[in-house]
This record gives sequence, structure tokens and C-alpha cells, in this order.
Amino acid sequence: MADREIRTEQQVKDKIKAFNKQRAGLLFAFIIFIGILIFSPAAEAEALPVCLTVFCSAIFLLCGAAFVISFRDLLLLLIVTTGIPAVLLGLGQIRFELFLILLLTNVGTVFTASITGKAVTRSFTNEIEEINRLKTEATTDALTHLLNRNGLEQAAGTAWALCKRDKKKVGVILADIDYFKSYNDTLGHPEGDNILRQVADSVKSCFRRETDIISRIGGDEFLIFLSEVNDDRILEMAQSLSSSIINLKVTTASENNPGDFLSVSIGVATSTPQPDDLLVDLYKAVDKALYRAKRAGRNCISFHDKLIQIGVPVETSFPVGVLSASTTSGDAEN
Ligand code: GH3
Ligand code: MG
Repeated sequence: MADREIRTEQQVKDKIKAFNKQRAGLLFAFIIFIGILIFSPAAEAEALPVCLTVFCSAIFLLCGAAFVISFRDLLLLLIVTTGIPAVLLGLGQIRFELFLILLLTNVGTVFTASITGKAVTRSFTNEIEEINRLKTEATTDALTHLLNRNGLEQAAGTAWALCKRDKKKVGVILADIDYFKSYNDTLGHPEGDNILRQVADSVKSCFRRETDIISRIGGDEFLIFLSEVNDDRILEMAQSLSSSIINLKVTTASENNPGDFLSVSIGVATSTPQPDDLLVDLYKAVDKALYRAKRAGRNCISFHDKLIQIGVPVETSFPVGVLSASTTSGDAEN
């Protein structure tokens, strides 16, 4: 939340900078024009201090009208543009009445410029917040507040490119709830939504690294993209995700379900991307792995050529062929 505010503040500052920059050229030309107007009739030496005093106030007035300036900077400008006439007043070069008129003009400039500056800043902030809100909406899943498919594409695309450049291994975990339709059918759609939110919370609590990209890419499918992983670590994380979902202890709604509680089937794939490799191929690989986990009876993890059942040590897991052969015939839906 605080991060978002800091980012918005920085975006507003950048926009104000660009706004001021856009006007600087025109204002510079205008100041030269005003300078010529003020100084040209007064070639005589005694009018010069008066011209200088008027010129200082004119510059301040123009800057205040053209730019968005912070109150602190306005005060600094006030000191400079009033200091010069004050010195001239001290030296007896200008009359007190002139000094007073220009001092009042300068103070008036501070207040009007500060009010308009605040109004412009507020409108920039509203505009940027609205843009950010729309951007977030376009990349976030409204139900779980995880990234949606669009958000995943953007975030994973960048992470993939970075890992490719740095020759780092990336991994993808694709988890799909087992027989989720049966929960909707027996408990109703709102309770189904509630289950999806609980699963999303489990995913969030299992993947906490700042670089972990977590998303709900479809109805009951969650995809996690991990940068700089190794095979042991990603398997460990997939197992911990699977366990944490079983630990939600949502009673199964389908007699086909392999366990007593809500579970997920998980596909895992990793890659150390080479220059010509495509992220879409990693997605295809993880999709196949998930398909194998479903075919093998669900509530298990498929990674490389292994099928890992939850609670069974990895070393004793079955090679894909063995477990699939023994379970596919009992798989009603596939
Ligand atoms: P499998 O074990 O093969 O995955 O079986 P399944 O029943 O989970 O099958 P599938 O993954 O195809 O079903 C997904 C279901 O998710 C179908 C749809 O009714 C439901 N669904 C999709 N989006 C939402 C949603 O936003 N909320 C709720 N409550 N249900 C949703
Ligand atoms: Mg499912």
C-alpha cells in the first residue's frame, strides 16, 4: 500500500517535471521579451534599479503563473526576487512605495501560485491514480487478487527475459483443484468462490519471495512462475503448496476424489532458457506435466519423469509410466 503511494507520488513528480519542462522554452522567450520591454526605454543609469526591481517581480509572476512550483521553492524564489530590490532600497536606489508595491505583488504571487500548483498537482494525482487503477484491474483477478493471465504474461515475460540474460534457471508450478466442479455443484457457486479464495491465500503464503509471480489463470488453475530456482527447491515448494491446500481441510465433495480433503494436482517444469527458447514452450511443458498428474489419479505432483504423491518421500516416488499405467484405467473423466 505504502509502496503504491510512493510510486504514485514519484509518477506525479515526473509528470510535473515534464509539465514544467514543456513550458520552460516558451517562458524563457517570454522573459527575454519582457526584459527588453522593461529595460529598453530606460537606458539612463538612474532608471536601472527601478527596472531591475520590476523585472525581478515580473519574472517571479511569470514563473508562478507558468510552472507548478512547490511552496518551499516559491518561498525561496520570493526571498531572491525580494532580496535584490531590498538591497536596492537599502542603497537608496529605489523608492519605498515601489518596493512595497512589488513586495505585495510577490507575496500575492506566492499564494496564487501555491493554490494553482496544488490544484494542478491534485488533478495529476487523480489522473495517475485512475490510470494505475485501470492498469491494476486489467492485470488482477478480481476474486483472488492474484495476477490474472494478462498480469502473468507481463510479469513472467520480463522475468523470463532477465533469467535468459543472466542464464538463471526458471520454474513453473501449475496447480489445478481436483474435481472442483463438484464443490460448486454441491455447495453452490458462492462457496466455490470462497474455496478459490482460500486456495489463493495458501498459494500466497507458500510463495513469498518478491520475485515469485503468482496468478490464477483460469477457473481453478493457479500458475506460479519462479526465478532462480533449482529442481530440489521447486519440488519442495510444490509439495508444501499441496500440503497446505490439504491442510485447509475442506471436505471433499466428490466420491472420485482421492482423499478426504480438497486437493490439487500439480505439474512442474523448469528451464534454463537459451537465447532462442520461448516461454510458451515452458507453459506447454508444465501443462503436459499437470495433465500427467491428473491422469495418474490426481492429488500428486508430476515433475520430469516422476510422479510424487503427497506424503511419500521423493526417492520412493514412481516413474511416470508405472503410476500412470496403474491408475489411468480408474480415471473416470480422462
Ligand atoms: P479436474 O480434477 O479434472 O480438474 O476436475 P474439475 O471439476 O476441477 O474440472 P475443471 O478444472 O475443468 O473445472 C473447473 C470448474 O471451475 C468449472 C467451473 O464451473 C468452475 N469455475 C471456473 N471459474 C470459477 C469461478 O470464478 N468461481 C467458481 N465458483 N467456479 C468457477
Ligand atoms: Mg480442476
